[in-house]
Order: sequence, then C-alpha cells, then structure tokens
Amino acid sequence: NSHHHHHHVALFSSPGMGHIIPILELAKHLLTHQKITITKITLFIPSINSSSSKAEKDVLQSTINQNISIDIIHLPPIDISNHISNNVLDPNNIVTLETKIAITMHEAPKLFVSAISNMKFKPTMIITDYFLSQTLPLVKKMNNMEVPMYLFAPTSAWLVALGFHSPKLDKEVEEGEYHSHGETPILIPGCKGIHPSDLFQMMEDRTHRLYLEYLLMCEALTLADGIFVNTFEELEPKTLEALRSGKITKVPIFPIGPVIRETNKQNRNHVVDWLDIQEEESVIYVSLGSGYSMSHEQIKEMAMGLELSGQKFVWSLRPPSTKTGNNNYYLTAGEDAETNKKCHSSINVDDLILKSENSKTNGATKSQQPSDFPEEFYRIQSNGIVVMDWAPQLEILNHASIGGFVSHCGWNSIIESVSCGVPIIGWPLFAEQRMNASMLQDEEVGIAIRLNVSMSTKIVGSEEIGKAIRKIMDKGDIEGCAIRKRVKELKHIAQKAWSHHHGSSYFALSRIVNSNGVS
Ligand code: UDP
Repeated sequence: NSHHHHHHVALFSSPGMGHIIPILELAKHLLTHQKITITKITLFIPSINSSSSKAEKDVLQSTINQNISIDIIHLPPIDISNHISNNVLDPNNIVTLETKIAITMHEAPKLFVSAISNMKFKPTMIITDYFLSQTLPLVKKMNNMEVPMYLFAPTSAWLVALGFHSPKLDKEVEEGEYHSHGETPILIPGCKGIHPSDLFQMMEDRTHRLYLEYLLMCEALTLADGIFVNTFEELEPKTLEALRSGKITKVPIFPIGPVIRETNKQNRNHVVDWLDIQEEESVIYVSLGSGYSMSHEQIKEMAMGLELSGQKFVWSLRPPSTKTGNNNYYLTAGEDAETNKKCHSSINVDDLILKSENSKTNGATKSQQPSDFPEEFYRIQSNGIVVMDWAPQLEILNHASIGGFVSHCGWNSIIESVSCGVPIIGWPLFAEQRMNASMLQDEEVGIAIRLNVSMSTKIVGSEEIGKAIRKIMDKGDIEGCAIRKRVKELKHIAQKAWSHHHGSSYFALSRIVNSNGVS
C-alpha cells in the first residue's frame, strides 16, 4: 500500500500575520514531507482591506522569491457596506475590527468556494484556517468536490477544545454574559477550567454578531476530517488527551507544532549585530504582536519599566496611532473606503496569482515626529534598540543574548519563544491571549509570569513591568530560575517534534495520507 499520492492542496488562511506566517510554514512542511507528494499548493487569503500591509507583502514576496512552489491568491475584497447597520460602527463611525472579523468569517468562505470552483486544476485536498471553518459546509454542498477537508488551528489545543464545547455551553448558560455568572471556572471535560474573565474574546458579548459567527464556526468544526493544531504533546498533554478521549469531539486532532519558520543566518540586521555584542541572556525582548499599537501613556510606562529593570532591551513597537492605542494597526493600514465599497462577484483566479518580483525585503523605517513619543522614551534609547517596523522576531528570540520576552501571548509568539527556550512575561491583550497567558503560568507548563493588565485600559504600570523583568532575568531569583529551566526543557522536546525519524509532529502530518486513501 503506497503512501505516495498526488495532491493539489488548497490552503485557506485567515487575514493577519498570525495566520499567514504559520500557514505558509505548514505549506513548506507539506512540500518537504517524504510521504506526501504534492503537485501544487495554492494559498488563498481574504482581503480585509483594499491593500495588504507591507509586512504581509514582504512575507509573501520572500516566499515567492525563495522559489517555493506555492501560488498565492488574494480573494477580492468583501463588500462590507452591505453588512453595515448603525450598531456596528464605533464612536468614530468606523466599522469595528470585531465586526470586520465577523463579516470575514461569514463572507470569505463564499469567495473561496467560488474561486476553487473556477479553477481548472481542482484541489484534491483542502486545509482551511480554523476560524474559517464555515468553508466546510459550503464545500460539502459543491458538486464534484468530494475532497478531504482539514482545518489548521494556529492556536492552542485548549482553544480548539473550547470551540467544540461552545455550542453546548451556549445552550447550558441560557442568559447573560459568561463573565457575569461569578468566578466559577468554565469546564470542558478533561481540560483545565477557564476563568470567566480569561475567556476567548469572541465569546465576550453574546449579543454581538461576532459571537453568532463564532457559534456557526464551532458547529462547522465537526465536518472536518481532522484538525492540525500548532502545538505539541508536552506543551498540552492534558488537553490533547481530553480531545482524543472522544468526550469532546470525534474529529481527529493532530498536534503538528511547532510550526515556525527557520531562522535565517544570512538575515543580518542591525538588531542582530547589536545583540552579537551583548552578554549572554542579558537582553529583554518586548513585542506586543503584529497588530497592537501602544498608547502614548503606555509607551511612557513601558519606558520607565525598562529603566527600572536596569536591563538592556530590544523593543518592537508599532507607532501610536491613537491616544488610546488599538489592536488593529496592520489590519487597518491602507484603509480605503472607496475600494471597500466595490464588490467583485466574478473572479478570474489565474489573474489573481501573485507574481514573483525582485523586491527588496528589508524593513523600511516609518518616519516619526519626535513629539510623538514621551520624554521617558528618549531617555532610555542608549540602553537598547527600538524597532519601529517589522522586527526579525525569530532571529531575535533565537539569539543567545536574549534572556526574556515581554509578550502579548499571541500563540505564534508563544510557540516561537518556547522553541527558542526564552521565558515569557505575559501581557495578554485581546483574542484568546488571556487563556494563553493563564496556561503558560500554570504548573503544567510553567514558563511565564503574568502581568496584571487592566481589562478596560490594557495598561500596565512601570513598577510592575520593571519587577517582572528583574524576576525573569535575575540569576538569583528562585521562581525565575525554575521558569528558565522549564522553558529550556520544553525547547529540547520541541526540537525533536519535526525530526524525520521519530518526530511526533512529522508523523502526525503524514496522517493526512494515511487516514484518507485519496489519490
Ligand atoms: N512578528 C515579527 N515581527 C514583529 C511582530 C511580529 O516577526 O515585529 C511575527 C511574530 O514572530 C509572529 C507573528 O508575527 O510570528 C505574530 O503572531 P502572534 O500570534 O504572536 O500575534 P498576533 O500578531 O497575531 O497578535
């Protein structure tokens, strides 16, 4: 029984760097896997805006330039104006990010299905981002499209377990918000309980359209032939066991993490040059993800916190776009109301394929007015490096001079930090980040300390920041020591997962061919 099958895989990503980066890496694993023969990979990306961010363009362009055989197709923009009623506008009359995400979850699957039905060379397998599972019922309904359908979750297995459990929870808790029922943890069979205030953001407002789309997404999960999760056995042993027990779902769950890109030694950069001349584990790396831009006030507190810690730093910072800070810097970059209104209903797929071009992929620097930043920010400049644009995060985390990571606990950042053996100071902001932070802090994992973040303002004070950094970096701190030791253990385990000999993630991916005899 040969394991070699020819496949045209259609990958379908959610918008945003936290989805596009890992799905591209999954594509590379599929292409290099010895038991899977891929003839063609096409990656589809929904357009949430008229133009994608520079960071996104750079990542996609570098894939094309590396001669990796993936066709990349941006789906036409979704006509948001059709969906707008007054209650989805924020105080500035802008459609909120939550609403955009909800509309994307609902509309993007339709565009994807229309695109694949127009293709000459039909996909033999579909792998869709977890949050776009509403694609599955649409594909099921298509004529001549009986293909295996998988999901890829660039999240924890714990969030996936919550996804399967949510429709049940929705029926059990008949009224009110989940966080208005006191402190009792939300229980999923066999899993660690979720503190109501840590719950996934999509479940925060049960009257919002986003919650309704989330429930539809959860219901569609059961149609998947399997779910690949960017995690690994030792990171989430209890949850993975629960997911396999049959008590939560019958859908097979395959942990295939860490799915991260390889560090590029050629990728020299002024940050890496600077790290080269620092002492081992002496520098703290600060990044609150690709999307979040800090408020003026928070930049001040952060700068003072770094000063109090006395440590050197690398700080990846999105320029403050508003006084309050927001969570959608890259998703709203290049916003263009006119183009958002245009609707494209018929697509010529072949016209949409992104073509190779020899563009430079070095990050350009965005010019800032000196008055944009508080005085404290300038005061600390001599003690570290601020990266205003896209930081080479993996090269930074992998550097011997880095001793800790102040992170918003985006799942990709966590997986990258664990893979590099860097302890985390958790500063959860949005999405499922509070669940992630609570998991990392928990004994089972034990690789992070968690900051006290104000739910409404997201602000953390300078003293708390300074104290946490010292704890993580100080070689004499008992708790810090245990955390550093544990994260290094996990690093070694993670390194084995993709071994072509006995690697658990390498093996799990090969289940794609073994569980379905498709050719
Ligand atoms: N990233 C990066 N440079 C930056 C900011 C982010 O390379 O300056 C990468 C980071 O390594 C990770 C991804 O962008 O792969 C962010 O994903 P994550 O899930 O951590 O957070 P999100 O940005 O989705 O909130």
